[in-house]
Amino acid sequence: MYILGIETSCDETAASIVKNGTEIISNVVASQIVSQKRFGGVVPEIASRHHVEQITLVIEEALLDAGMKPADLDAVAVTEGPGLVGALLIGINAAKAFAFANSLPIIGVHHIAGHIYANELMQRMEFPLLALIVSGGHTELVLMGAHGSFKLIGETRDDAAGEAYDKVARVLGLPYPGGPEIDKLAAGSDAEIKFPRAWLEPGSYDFSFSGLKSSVINYKHNLDQRGEEINPAHVAAGFQASVVEVLTTKALRAAKEYNVKQVIAAGGVAANRGLRASLEKAFQEKGIPFYVPPISLCTDNAAMIAAAGSAMFTEGVRGTLAMNGKPGMPLISWNTEK
Ligand code: ATP
Ligand code: MG
Ligand code: FE
Repeated sequence: MYILGIETSCDETAASIVKNGTEIISNVVASQIVSQKRFGGVVPEIASRHHVEQITLVIEEALLDAGMKPADLDAVAVTEGPGLVGALLIGINAAKAFAFANSLPIIGVHHIAGHIYANELMQRMEFPLLALIVSGGHTELVLMGAHGSFKLIGETRDDAAGEAYDKVARVLGLPYPGGPEIDKLAAGSDAEIKFPRAWLEPGSYDFSFSGLKSSVINYKHNLDQRGEEINPAHVAAGFQASVVEVLTTKALRAAKEYNVKQVIAAGGVAANRGLRASLEKAFQEKGIPFYVPPISLCTDNAAMIAAAGSAMFTEGVRGTLAMNGKPGMPLISWNTEK
């Protein structure tokens, strides 16, 4: 089974071919980071235009790299949502045209299901499974009883983890995207500055990062008023220590409470070295299997969409040519039995 995956929900134009839901045959990502950097973030209209320019080339390259023809494929899987609606529509329309022209079924994939299924490209998922999703727009703990069964047990009440990284980076004058920049600075520094941790009510698996962000802004403001220089590495390390401690502690508590067989991390912030090290250590100590994909599969890509699409295809899920972009698409189970 060969599935073509297409992803255009934000600022990566990506296409990939995945075999049997687990093996990457080709994986092409055209990033717009260079041009979005100039604006300090993603400008939706510019993102859409880039997708229009890139999408056909990226799909052709995915086929070329794989040495395959459209007739070798079994289905096309595309990100249906959530994301920027104009950006989503470019991928969806390309997928529809490709599916129609080549008489292939089309499958609409939830972007976060994609991030989770990036793990299937590395090792088999085992259920019950806990997924810690940390990305630019999401911070969630999701419990899976089986393939395609998602139960949200906690989520952010304000900023997503990646959003907090990007905003704090901006305060520190670092380029977009801020996550990798803070990661680098934090790795070379101790967390001497203690920023707050938002634990919320006892037992809650929800998150909150806006207070932490404000606390960094206030810290800088106070230094500015005293005419003192900020030490970006100290701030980065202090900020990251707060994010990592809260994420690790809550994921560990949920894994124990729900007695899961496996824990996985997913999403762009799962590329963070401090977070990866902290999660690996915590779960190893408790003897709970923990996995996180390689960095290139944590950030947006189409192999993860093809992987999730493969699992859906196997279970008989099909979309139609009436598919539309769903900017606020909820993560709904396609398997409602478990
Ligand atoms: P979503 O997946 O929620 O729709 P998105 O697709 O924009 O949002 P991703 O591409 O999954 O998000 O992740 C991008 C985010 O990951 C950005 O906020 C970026 O700063 C962050 N990020 C990337 N690398 C790192 C890193 N090494 N450390 C921390 N954050 C990182
Ligand atoms: Mg991105
Ligand atoms: Fe993403």
